[in-house]
Amino acid sequence: NKIIIAIDGHSSTGKSTVAKQLAKALGYIYVDTGAMYRAVSLYAMRKKIIDEFHFDQEALEKDLPEIDLRFKINPETGLAEILLNGENVEREIRTLSVSKYVSKIAAISSVRKKLVEQQQKMGVDKGIVMDGRDIGTVVFPNAELKLFMTATAKDRAERRFIELRERGEDVTYEDVLKNVVNRDHIDSTRKDSPLRKAEDAIKIDNSNLTLKEQFEQILQLAKT
Ligand code: C5P
Repeated sequence: NKIIIAIDGHSSTGKSTVAKQLAKALGYIYVDTGAMYRAVSLYAMRKKIIDEFHFDQEALEKDLPEIDLRFKINPETGLAEILLNGENVEREIRTLSVSKYVSKIAAISSVRKKLVEQQQKMGVDKGIVMDGRDIGTVVFPNAELKLFMTATAKDRAERRFIELRERGEDVTYEDVLKNVVNRDHIDSTRKDSPLRKAEDAIKIDNSNLTLKEQFEQILQLAKT
């Protein structure tokens, strides 16, 4: 019996690592909803709808119907990569500059409405692991297994800093920490679908767990 697994939590808590491992072990599809919000942000940045000094919300809302998001499996990795109007932007959406604007974009109700509808369609056949901020609360309130991941801001910023450095981005630890804290603040205080733990979600604080320990715990949960 296939189920829906919803994984939510703060930025850089290792949600996607766990989600990918789970999907692989169970033969499920993995969907990274953060990639969708990031792709909309990249679109807005390219069209100069958002920058450091201004954000033209109306222009973004007007353009929403033009923004087509799809996932395509990379045959080499077996993982889904995101296409923005047909262009693979999987790498470009992971930069710190996209991270700087994404939470502002994700606070817009019409953006959320469009993406949530698309996400719900992806879950009709179940057998899906989806990670984000509102999966257990809004996208799939009836998901059979809900996890809420957390870790200290310091641990999360360290993890993200190492990742960005490995990708060759010239960032400082302080910038990454600031971004992680700032996104969590915007994500938790926005009016529409703020980040919060669903009542029936299982809380996982992974500051003190190795990835393997954590994964084994969760796989057990998925199988029961
Ligand atoms: O998961 P990731 O850190 O890539 O998500 C980037 C941003 O997208 C989050 O900080 C949040 O603002 C937004 N997001 C959201 N709802 C989701 C997934 C991501 O608001 N379901």
